[in-house]
Amino acid sequence: MTLTNPALSPAYPELTRRLADLSAIEEAIGILQWDQEIVMPPGAADARARQIATLAVLHHERLTHPRHLELLSTLQGDGGGLDDVARANVREAARDHRRASRIPPDLVRAWGEATVKAHEIWVDARKHADFERFRPMLEHLVELAQRRAAAIDPHRTSYDVLLDEFEPGMPMARLDTVFAPLRDFLVPFIAQVKTATDLPDVGWLHTPVPVDLQREAGEAIVRAMGYDFHYGRLDVAVHPFCGGAGPTDVRITTRYKETHFTGSLMAMVHETGHALYEQGRNRDLGDQPVSRPRSYGIHESQSLLWEKQVGQGAPFWTWHFPRLQERYAFLRGLDFETFLFGLNRVDFGNFIRVDADELTYPLHVILRYEIERDLFSGKLAVRDLPEAWNAKMQAYLGITPPDARLGVLQDVHWSSGSFGYFPSYTLGAMYAAQFWRAALRDVPGIPDGLATGDVGPLVGWLRTHVHRPGSRWETDELVRRATGEALEPAHFIDYLRAKYTRLYRLPAGV
Ligand code: ZN
Repeated sequence: MTLTNPALSPAYPELTRRLADLSAIEEAIGILQWDQEIVMPPGAADARARQIATLAVLHHERLTHPRHLELLSTLQGDGGGLDDVARANVREAARDHRRASRIPPDLVRAWGEATVKAHEIWVDARKHADFERFRPMLEHLVELAQRRAAAIDPHRTSYDVLLDEFEPGMPMARLDTVFAPLRDFLVPFIAQVKTATDLPDVGWLHTPVPVDLQREAGEAIVRAMGYDFHYGRLDVAVHPFCGGAGPTDVRITTRYKETHFTGSLMAMVHETGHALYEQGRNRDLGDQPVSRPRSYGIHESQSLLWEKQVGQGAPFWTWHFPRLQERYAFLRGLDFETFLFGLNRVDFGNFIRVDADELTYPLHVILRYEIERDLFSGKLAVRDLPEAWNAKMQAYLGITPPDARLGVLQDVHWSSGSFGYFPSYTLGAMYAAQFWRAALRDVPGIPDGLATGDVGPLVGWLRTHVHRPGSRWETDELVRRATGEALEPAHFIDYLRAKYTRLYRLPAGV
């Protein structure tokens, strides 16, 4: 693929230069944010906020510049001269422009100020488990988000516009049809899994392991998964994330807890899944929107596929368990089945989404989705959130949080104005199950490869069907080309039913 095809309109090279400049600014912001989390001295916080804000203003000015719109308009009207990749690039660039240019400057400023203040207020409210401290600010943020959505698209409901930012093409009407069957399966299924008895002991999970040893073992696994340290690095963060600056600078982080070595290990596997997506982007177009990861949900599918389908499965550990036993003496007496059960165990008493296991996690997400949906439709008021939250926790998971810190105040998302983000986590889990199924169908040798330490067949499939296409196609088309059909919740449900029926030795036909 080349950007200098003479058949292309002369407006196109000019647009791609402008888009490359925008990418450079985004990447610089990415490095400043990474630095802020990982190495910045605390005293530099104000200066850093100013630096990032200035770059964001420059980015907004360039993105909304009249020349930028002129080029987009010319090229959108000039479809005949562009090839498929260029057309997709223009489509993505036009979407960025539309979302940025429609929000009036006073609203951009009000949004920026409110979200900075809201974070501090939320931290304080969570510390005191006092929702009332956060309520007035949350009401303000919901109102601002509604105004923002109305500015971007007055013809759609505000929550649909907000959802579109994270998962284009997945409005409420469709989310309802994919989440409802999952919820209706999970609630009774989890209640049944909960009754299982005579299960393997998981006390070994909390055996202390020195942090140095954990880092060595984790790095070996990250490397074995195909992560390229020439284009990346691994550091420690309070909340693990994958950041950096484009496909040649992909930085992952984890956190270590001596008495929970599998926590840091699985966080590394998860972030490496994100990183392989970034490192696998089409580098020839690495500074163009068309090479970008398709959506938050598709990004999460890449981390979850490695963490769950691969990293909690028997083939992967057939290779890695003996190697881990060489490093960790206490694992030498543990049998393989007990080890696998520990990695996959369900924690029925857990209130916190980020700590949730694979089986209960979707209900944490569906709860938040239903609450946000009702909040933005006016069915639910902010003051009623704690009660609505607890009622759903009881109905879905059979537990009621003892206070707001373990309930409605636990997530950072609302304080940063990220309404509509949560569904991406569970969409990611659904896409992961569907991709995994298709990959095994296309390349039956994937499990044998994993069992002998060869990730090549799996990485190859992901590169071809997900990483390199990037944003070339819209999500449904990407998923259809990779798996033969659009998102189908039955694949995730079947996967969970089979896996946990086996692990918890439930009678067949549950
Ligand atoms: Zn993730």
